[in-house]
Amino acid sequence: MTASAQDERDAEERSGALLELASRWAEAVAGTSYVSLPRPEVEQLLSGLLRRLVAAARLRGVQTAAAVGAEVGAALVDAHFTSPPTLSRTLAVLLDGPPGGGSAEEDGAGEAGARQRWHRVVAAVAAGFSAALQERALREQEEILRAAAEAREQAEQALHVSEERFRAVFEGAPVGIGIGDVDGRILEVNPALEAMLGHPAEEFRRREVREFMHPADLEQVWRLYGELVRGERDHFRLEKQFLRSTGESVWTDLTVSLLRDEHGRPRYQLAVIHDVTSLRRLRRQLEHDATHDSLTGLANRKVFLDHLDDVFRRAAPGARAGLCFLDLDGFKAVNDTLGHEVGDRLLVAVARRLDAVVASSGHEVARLGGDEFVVLVSDCSGPDQLIALAEDVLAAVAEPVPLGSVQVAVTASIGIVERPIAGIDPAELLRAADITLYWAKADGKSRWALFEDERNARDLTRYSLSSALPGAISRGEFVLHYQPLRRLSDGALHGIEALVRWQHPNLGLLGPESFVGLAEQSGLIVPLGRHVLQVACRQAFAWFGACPGGPFVSVNLATQQLRDEGLVDDVRVALRDSGLHPRQLQLEITESAVIGTDLLTGSTLDALSEMGVRLAIDDFGTGWSNLTYLRRLPLDELKLDGSFLRGLRSGTDVDPVDSQLVASVVSLAHLLELTVTAEGIETRAQVDHLVAIGCDAGQGTHLGAPADRDETGRLLGLEPRPGGSRRAPRPTAPTALDEAPTRSG
Ligand code: C2E
Ligand code: MG
Ligand code: MG
Repeated sequence: MTASAQDERDAEERSGALLELASRWAEAVAGTSYVSLPRPEVEQLLSGLLRRLVAAARLRGVQTAAAVGAEVGAALVDAHFTSPPTLSRTLAVLLDGPPGGGSAEEDGAGEAGARQRWHRVVAAVAAGFSAALQERALREQEEILRAAAEAREQAEQALHVSEERFRAVFEGAPVGIGIGDVDGRILEVNPALEAMLGHPAEEFRRREVREFMHPADLEQVWRLYGELVRGERDHFRLEKQFLRSTGESVWTDLTVSLLRDEHGRPRYQLAVIHDVTSLRRLRRQLEHDATHDSLTGLANRKVFLDHLDDVFRRAAPGARAGLCFLDLDGFKAVNDTLGHEVGDRLLVAVARRLDAVVASSGHEVARLGGDEFVVLVSDCSGPDQLIALAEDVLAAVAEPVPLGSVQVAVTASIGIVERPIAGIDPAELLRAADITLYWAKADGKSRWALFEDERNARDLTRYSLSSALPGAISRGEFVLHYQPLRRLSDGALHGIEALVRWQHPNLGLLGPESFVGLAEQSGLIVPLGRHVLQVACRQAFAWFGACPGGPFVSVNLATQQLRDEGLVDDVRVALRDSGLHPRQLQLEITESAVIGTDLLTGSTLDALSEMGVRLAIDDFGTGWSNLTYLRRLPLDELKLDGSFLRGLRSGTDVDPVDSQLVASVVSLAHLLELTVTAEGIETRAQVDHLVAIGCDAGQGTHLGAPADRDETGRLLGLEPRPGGSRRAPRPTAPTALDEAPTRSG
């Protein structure tokens, strides 16, 4: 083996021993200090240090070897191997001997020298370790001190800033702030609180919290306050009054919070106080405005409805409630003629009077809007009480109201409703009062009306009828009944009156009194009348054919039809379409329709008459016309109202005045060349009287009640003519005048 090969092997062996020692060293110090390096890196670090130590131990220079040892000790500390066990275990491992013992070239004496040098180096490691550790401790302590100093400085500065800020907030706050201790002594108050309560700060400090409280709040606030200072609550907030130095009270929104010391014990109390006096006043005003009518100051609709609801909710069994629902008559005219300002003042005056009338009784008066007022009587004894009240109110309102230079006289209408509360609701009560007010107006104003169920039911029927009316014509619900007009001398058929009926799907057969008025109000009477005219003409032709000398069909005309420009054309079309001769058509008009006849009506009548149509005055004697007036009209017949025949019903007990009247009318009518038909003949005696007087014809149950088309045809022996061909009718046989056919309609 060559020397160099031997050297290489020695070197390998030494290196293996070094690594093995480094590994043991790492094993020994594992866990002794907190070092975050993984085990392989620790071994790498330690083997590096070991190499330096071994190299240093070979050096002869003592100083240099000690310096290296000290560096290695310091390097351990730098690597965070800082605990005493680390050092003791390090020493134990290293003192065990240098890796691989002495070197090859060293003899026995040399080996002892080497071990000595090694021990020196290891001792230097211990010294370096300690020195580094101490230095590090000093350094850390310094750092801590510096950090502590910095922290204190920062805290002081922060405290100063926060104190400054607190001062700024405290002094400048627009809300009052007060600080007190838990015994109720006031320690500090801000300028806002001084101004709010009108005391200087010194005075606050002399006094206790309690002395500033309003006596009214004392109990409640004191309880909360007690809970706060005992630490049972951290804050409380409420709206309360304080006393100002002047004695007046200030309304405030008060929040009191508890400040505790570092142990959590109650220490101070902090009160933040907003002056809400004007806010409260505003809120009150808004509340008042929301519940009162701004013009009259009476309760407004909302409050009234709420109150009404309350009355209904709280009603004892059997309790009754009543309303007087008032509306001024013609108030619009006051506004229009005297101006709105006068109108407003009038409303104020009326409100005062209403208030005065009910003031002593405790009833509630409200203005519902416009000129509508209502009085609510919440526990009433019956309608009489409400009627008496309504009369008082009407009398009070009717007194002329002096408004500046003018005296304004107004009247009012009142709808009264009074009923047991059970079974209805407030809305129904109001609706009933509203309906009743309408009745009072419709009955002539300046009066009261009392709600009645029957009248209401009638109104409802009227309402439902008038809404069903428009469709009824197209649905073919109107039918005609017919009643004969007979010659009194022999009972022969003079004519036949067409009487309209409504075959209502729910209400059955309705007579004209239920709907003709409604049709007149809505203007539907014109198309309805046209329909009647057409059907009547067709039916008459079916029965009689075209026969100018034969019986006629008599059709009633409403006033509006007579005023309708299309009437003449309607009649012409009805005649043309049916084939009936104009002399076979009679139109019945009422006196009222021709009184004060305008040009249009006059020319309409002339045109109809010229056409050949017969014209009759219906129900003569019930209107205000007189014969001399009627004389100017192109009339053919007078139908004398049935009321004139009442005194002639019996054969023995005849009213001489009635008898005389009828006789005069008949002879006057004859003088004017009018035939006379007496209506409402119900007895044989009436027929006899009328015959004796010289009356031409009659109509009534005794001579034949109205009946539907088929029955009429049968009773009168009028067969409908097949195919509607126009041929002469069979002569109608005279009928026994004492025979009373079945009634209808
Ligand atoms: P009016 O034209 O005087 O018709 C006669 C009314 O007297 C009919 O009533 C008839 O039923 C009734 N009457 C007949 N005989 C007697 C009797 O012996 N005693 C009594 N007390 N009454 C008798 P109705 O059918 O209810 O008609 C009432 C009114 O309705 C008619 O009175 C007429 O003014 C109107 N009217 C009927 N149909 C029409 C129509 O088509 N158009 C218009 N505009 N009005 C009509
Ligand atoms: Mg008639
Ligand atoms: Mg009549």
